[in-house]
Amino acid sequence: MSNIIAIVGRPNVGKSTLFNRLTESRKAIVDDFSGVTRDRHYGIAEWTDKKFTVIDTGGYVAGSDDVFEAAIREQVVIAIEEATVLLFMVDVTTGVTDLDDEIADILRRSKKPVFVVVNKVDNNNLEHDSAVFYSLGLGDIYTISSMTGSGTGDLLDQVVSHLENVEEEESKLPKITIIGRPNVGKSSLVNALMGKDRNIVTPIAGTTRDSIHIHYNQFGHEFMFIDTAGLRKKTKVKENIEFYSVMRTIKALEEADVCILMLDAIEGLEAQDINIFHLAEKNKKGVVILVNKWDLIEKNNKTMKVFEDQIKEKLQPFTDVPVIFTSVLNKQRIFKAVETAMEVYQNRSKKIPTSKLNDVMLPIIENYPPPATKGKYIKIKYITQINGVAPMFAFFCNLPQYIKEPYKRFLENKLRENFDFSGVPIQIYFRQK
Ligand code: GDP
Ligand code: GDP
Repeated sequence: MSNIIAIVGRPNVGKSTLFNRLTESRKAIVDDFSGVTRDRHYGIAEWTDKKFTVIDTGGYVAGSDDVFEAAIREQVVIAIEEATVLLFMVDVTTGVTDLDDEIADILRRSKKPVFVVVNKVDNNNLEHDSAVFYSLGLGDIYTISSMTGSGTGDLLDQVVSHLENVEEEESKLPKITIIGRPNVGKSSLVNALMGKDRNIVTPIAGTTRDSIHIHYNQFGHEFMFIDTAGLRKKTKVKENIEFYSVMRTIKALEEADVCILMLDAIEGLEAQDINIFHLAEKNKKGVVILVNKWDLIEKNNKTMKVFEDQIKEKLQPFTDVPVIFTSVLNKQRIFKAVETAMEVYQNRSKKIPTSKLNDVMLPIIENYPPPATKGKYIKIKYITQINGVAPMFAFFCNLPQYIKEPYKRFLENKLRENFDFSGVPIQIYFRQK
């Protein structure tokens, strides 16, 4: 189950402006980390109680004018197949252009919901001009100003009504997927693990073309493997390879409990990997990092440690993540990868009894209480783990609003030190008591 909203449309209509507005909070977080926003064309947004991934298709086409229009047309086709909802953005100040008409022709064949979003309607006078976009033949139009945000609320109310509730079903088997940029070794790993007797499970309704579910049951581990690596579709336009692979990655990630993020040791952790990592974190998925092609690295006894430190530096602040160095070629540590993914799965489903949690955490808090704010003394009284698909903790206290980020981070670190949550994002809430 995935919820992807794709913003399509020709250049300069305002796609990335809307994208930034929808994913604003997310952007702030990413900015804090490492300035990786440069390459970011997808992110998480929330509206009412719905969470979804937004993808700005415009980010993926550069190149010369002649590939440009072909690339955009192909993107629309990919987006129709892969996204849940499409926002077709047009510009009220230019009216309907030829390329708008061409895109509309493709979109009219889509069975997915398409919203015609008329942008740059910054004032009421421009409302009148927007009527020409009914001629696109795609039904209702939604007038917005991405710049000021006006109209976006009404649009989102309609859009989210088409999304699924992505609460995970209580699944019987752990779901694990391998994600990573092209050529890092994903397919090779799948082949090495699954061997020839791939037992392909009947695809679940609605996900037929998204992924193949493979039942893995060997060496004492049983799980459902979500394979998208083998499903790479040929794109005619080179610029769209990344676009397509990002779409697939997002969907695999949303379906899985744990994702194995695979890197190429020669290339290391790049901006796109970091973005995917934060997407996994934001989706509360377990993560294992695999540094593959380790055979190609010249090494001494410190190389691994140096590598790991460099990676973790870039993953701040969520650094409690296992990093494994593999060579699929030499079958080095590939079963360790599976084992670790299963451990992360266990960590993610771990439930700490309330009594144990309080026995361990209350003395720590007593020793190092939250700093008083505005002369007010903050007292944490007890802690419970909240039921959910991933670890969540509620700290009950007298003045929850006065507890600051550094103290929250301190508590998270103490939880991680005392209970193994390696590879798992954890949520901490402060509640009034
Ligand atoms: P993209 O190429 O479709 O991603 O378009 P951009 O988001 O980069 O926007 C293109 C230009 O339109 C930029 O100069 C934006 O500042 C401007 N723009 C975007 N949204 C609005 C809007 O709602 N009103 C106005 N007046 N300008 C906008
Ligand atoms: P994918 O695009 O991520 O699925 O990557 P592939 O599995 O298709 O692998 C890309 C290339 O990397 C192929 O030529 C593989 O043979 C090679 N490769 C995969 N794993 C390793 C490894 O551990 N070491 C080396 N040297 N090459 C590898």
